[in-house]
Amino acid sequence: MCVTPSFSLSQLFALVVIALLPVLGHAQWLQDTRALMGTEITVELMEPGAGEGEALLEAVFTEFHRLDLMMNPWNEESVLARVNRDAFAGPVSVPAEMVAVLERALYYSRLSGGAFDVSFAAASQYYDFRRGRTPSKAEREEGVRAIDYRSVELDTQAATVRFLRPGMALDFGGIAKGFAVDRGIDILRAAGVEAAVVSAGGDSRMLGDLGERPRMVGIRHPRQQDDYVAIIPLSNTAISTSGDYERYFERDGVRYHHILDPATGDSARAVLSASIIAAQAIDSDALSTTVFVLGVERGLALVNRLPGVDAIIVDGQGRLHYSAELLLSTKE
Ligand code: ADP
Ligand code: MG
Repeated sequence: MCVTPSFSLSQLFALVVIALLPVLGHAQWLQDTRALMGTEITVELMEPGAGEGEALLEAVFTEFHRLDLMMNPWNEESVLARVNRDAFAGPVSVPAEMVAVLERALYYSRLSGGAFDVSFAAASQYYDFRRGRTPSKAEREEGVRAIDYRSVELDTQAATVRFLRPGMALDFGGIAKGFAVDRGIDILRAAGVEAAVVSAGGDSRMLGDLGERPRMVGIRHPRQQDDYVAIIPLSNTAISTSGDYERYFERDGVRYHHILDPATGDSARAVLSASIIAAQAIDSDALSTTVFVLGVERGLALVNRLPGVDAIIVDGQGRLHYSAELLLSTKE
């Protein structure tokens, strides 16, 4: 694997076009983009048989829509909203998909010692990034007190969730898009698709490759729009990026954005962006948020313990840091 820093958009374009050339002519690629789950979902696929592509695109978007209805905490009808309303009073039944997402979220909460915490929403409810609202000191302290993944009781056998303390709320914003991307790929693979890309905002997963070549994936420069800090060839893998430039505002020179450090209830400011490469998007998604909160040293230490997982981090000074396996492969 090679990592080439500082490509411009036109260079990226040239690379993508070169990568596409071998497959043009003998395979039909289809693509569609829709707004769902608060972001842009893009599905690209190589048709398994003539005329089958449109229905497959539709099936993936339908699945995203279904999962969004289930896991959007702002939709009062959603299962997640019901959990947040009722789970302190007693166990709430949840569908299998939510058991899977919560189980993985709690795994990363434990693995990171709470840097990733699926109950961070007790603090984030006081922020409004569009209106520039931040919590008062008292609100922030109250929010932080109610964040505690250890007080989320998931019974995987009974498929129920219970909160062991009041004031708790779950939010799957750091993991649900990755899960949905994996589901999209599962649907396509089961239908016989051999090459596809499913992306949801900063989370993407590639099935197969582009003919004989891998796909070139650019990691955005966190401060220069349309510029890239790295372009990596990837196939059959997932990549997610968490950055402080997606949803933010600045006040008195301080940037407030949507990734919170559960220890303080304030935006995490150790790095500008964290990208994770892993086999599945549920893992790359959760880990990109996790490593963003942990920062360079603790983030790389965690990633270097996980086989098959790599990281590219842009620190506060704009410098790049790579996990051990990537460093080895860039030197080859
Ligand atoms: P996005 O693609 O939405 O930018 P990220 O993977 O960067 O997603 O994750 C950011 C989202 O993760 C936030 O919008 C929020 O929903 C959630 N989040 C923020 N802080 C944490 C945290 N400490 N632990 C778990 N999830 C978090
Ligand atoms: Mg993430």
